[in-house]
Amino acid sequence: MPMTLLPETIRAAKRTEGITYAVRDIVTLAHEVAKTGREMLYLNIGDPNPFDFETPPHLIEAVLKAMRENRNGYSPSSGIPCAVKAVREESERNGIRNIQDIFITSGGSEAIEVCLAALVDRGDNVLIPYPGYPLYEAVLAKLEARPQPYLLDEADGWQPDIADMRRRIDEKTRAIVLINPNNPTGAVYTEKTLRSVLDLARERNLLIFADEIYDQLILDAGKKHISIASLDPEAPVITFNGLSKGYIAPGWRIGWGVVSGNVELLRPYVAGINKLLRARLCANHPMQYAVAAALNGPKDFQKAALDKLRRRRDITHRMLNGAGISCVRPEAAFYAFPKLDIDMPDAEFVQGLIKATGVVAVHGSGFGQKPGTKHLRVVYLPQEPVLEKAYGKLLAYLAQNAR
Ligand code: PLP
Repeated sequence: MPMTLLPETIRAAKRTEGITYAVRDIVTLAHEVAKTGREMLYLNIGDPNPFDFETPPHLIEAVLKAMRENRNGYSPSSGIPCAVKAVREESERNGIRNIQDIFITSGGSEAIEVCLAALVDRGDNVLIPYPGYPLYEAVLAKLEARPQPYLLDEADGWQPDIADMRRRIDEKTRAIVLINPNNPTGAVYTEKTLRSVLDLARERNLLIFADEIYDQLILDAGKKHISIASLDPEAPVITFNGLSKGYIAPGWRIGWGVVSGNVELLRPYVAGINKLLRARLCANHPMQYAVAAALNGPKDFQKAALDKLRRRRDITHRMLNGAGISCVRPEAAFYAFPKLDIDMPDAEFVQGLIKATGVVAVHGSGFGQKPGTKHLRVVYLPQEPVLEKAYGKLLAYLAQNAR
């Protein structure tokens, strides 16, 4: 009888081993719990559309028109001219000068990935915030480069700790990632903070990755978002943004990058970015027609969204400050990052919370945090009664598990 050899399993590349994405990783557990019939209250994912937020009709019309006019082929690799022009004008309105390049991508995520891939060699490192959005760590792992965390200071309203940032820079550091407004803390950075980051970047010859995907979602009238690139036209900065958050169209996967700063400094890097952009053909073509409609069209839908978010932020801040929990008041976006006074790891707390209550939040360690501290990230997109119910359950579960 011929011997049948079992085929060897197909091994995954080592670079995938360290890759985690807590926001989606916990969903597997949540789905298992949901199968048991328990009511689930999802406070884990930063997607407005499953809640009472809708993509504005004028964006949908622009895309439909493009599809009907058969703009369904590939587009130029940097994006369609009218979208690039709209992003340029919007960037200029935000005070960004010396723009060297603009490209439209499949979400801000692809712009970030392309710009990191064009920058780092194996062994280089990039400063990323802790806590911070986990995409940067995942992409750097893929590129065999090293994420170098710097701390955000909870005692200072989650502004970056500039002294810590300075300590983390070494000869292999290539860039500083700044997420402003911030996910997961909801903080908006002050001009003083931004100027300190610029000084440090200039001193150490570093590029700045300015992730400003939440810049349209500033909750308080007195607060203003400042694009870091607007403070120094010579500083090499890439500003990332897109339609996902402020324009309520995350599933369309449209984002962009704006490279600004000294032309001589940036020339080789911009050429590298464009090689990678050409190699992946283009972003979704018909959806790019929504960019000009979004940036130049009516903004009343944003006011309505901000009114809802402000009320939900206030409930979150009021309810998540008390015994065993404290929460810095978020100033933007739809996230809060309350601190937990518990003995167990926060990942364990979250697993127990999902199983016992059906409330799905993400553990702070999924975003990185100061050693020894424990947090939760909550997304306050659901309607007020849902939030009140979820926070009630969370507080009752915490009371059983607090120190
Ligand atoms: N940057 C931050 C800070 C985010 O929170 C997100 C999404 O949650 C992204 C980038 C990616 O957004 P996009 O949908 O444009 O890829």
